[in-house]
Amino acid sequence: MPKTRKRKSVVKPKTTSDKAEGSVDRVADRSSDPRRKSESYANALDRHSEVLNVVHQAVELGRSGKADPDPKRAQLIKNSCDWVIDGPSRLNVLTETHDASRRARKQGAAGSMAMCGVGVARGGRAAYNQNDLTDPSGTMLMAKGCVGSFKGGVNLVMSQGGNERTRDDILSTIVHETQHDADRHDDALGGDRGPAWNEYATEFRAYWIEGEYSDKSETALTGKPPEAAKGMNCFDNDRQLAIFDHIYKGYPKFRQGWDTNPEELARKVAEMPRPVGINLVNSIRVNDLYTTLAQFVRETRKMPWLARIRFIKRRVIERKGRSVHAMVDALTDDDKKAFGDDGMKEKWTFILEDPALKAALSHCSTLGDRLNALVDPPAR
Ligand SMILES: [Zn+2]
Repeated sequence: MPKTRKRKSVVKPKTTSDKAEGSVDRVADRSSDPRRKSESYANALDRHSEVLNVVHQAVELGRSGKADPDPKRAQLIKNSCDWVIDGPSRLNVLTETHDASRRARKQGAAGSMAMCGVGVARGGRAAYNQNDLTDPSGTMLMAKGCVGSFKGGVNLVMSQGGNERTRDDILSTIVHETQHDADRHDDALGGDRGPAWNEYATEFRAYWIEGEYSDKSETALTGKPPEAAKGMNCFDNDRQLAIFDHIYKGYPKFRQGWDTNPEELARKVAEMPRPVGINLVNSIRVNDLYTTLAQFVRETRKMPWLARIRFIKRRVIERKGRSVHAMVDALTDDDKKAFGDDGMKEKWTFILEDPALKAALSHCSTLGDRLNALVDPPAR
């Protein structure tokens, strides 16, 4: 399921002398001169290499922890950049192929663009089959106007429509798309049920933490609800309202769900005035802890009682490699602080209340105490 982020502000108006004009010329040349065709392929790869370098310079700055004057945001950016380099997802930096529209059309996606750069790491060179437009290797199809997605990795769309993206914008998209992975929204334990709510919840978190509409109030509601939500009484603050409006307009699964059964979704929207999620800081360390505990719950739910206790002792607490104790040790002070914040506290309290986990942890009290202390830190 592609997670597409659409943003009006990103595509800048074109000037008469910029790339848009040039690209039109190149298309015309290509059709009449076979030599130009191969040049254009090479040009597309050169352009990709340049853009890849720009993005990785931004990621390097992000990883240094100095990308933002606000320490909390700098840490969020650092976590997100670490996530796409060392963590569970890989970063795909995408630029158009030399035949982006035609290639998409040949693959049955008229109106979309074929992008190259899938699976290309820093310093690598993109490649795709220039002779067979139906061969999808090394490419990905993207809807026009899309600036990023989360599908088979964190995908960053760099040059569609001739847009030029600032460093801050690149890093914000990495934060947004990484959150789609970090929130484990499809997971049995921490996930969000139902396709419409699942889409809304993950987009709401992603837009909020990337900083979208951060100029709007997070506590006061002065704006009017959109037509589709009139009289539903599900908004608490202007920022929530603005993100709702954006998701309703741009994300069909949520829109269809809302138009079919607004009451049920309105209740859920009202329950999440600000983001609630298992990993609102995009931390690889929080993810390690979550995935291990979730795996334990999944694998032991149907086990007899003693087998479950043995499993948690051998495979979770004392397992070779990294035990859960080591994962808790690895949490930074910033990670620990995040567990106590409202949005993560709610989800983690739910996880730690899982009967299988709770029962097993009651026999391993040190670990249980340590996990509970993350959610409910002892008063100092
Ligand atoms: Zn998104």
